Amino acid sequence: MDPKLLDILACPLCKGPLKLANDKTELVCKADALAFPVRDGIPVMLETEARTLNVDERLDK
Ligand SMILES: [Zn+2]
Repeated sequence: MDPKLLDILACPLCKGPLKLANDKTELVCKADALAFPVRDGIPVMLETEARTLNVDERLDK
């Protein structure tokens, strides 16, 4: 995924910054505790496609 893309992406809900997951398959919004999938390098910024973070992930710094 293009790192520059990450700079322009924001959470569709809170408009906050997103963090690319370590395995680069998800974009995480800590404020909403949601993870948006990245499919074939394309971020899917839809709340309906997002996964809710589990407790461990929420506590991860
Ligand atoms: Zn958010």
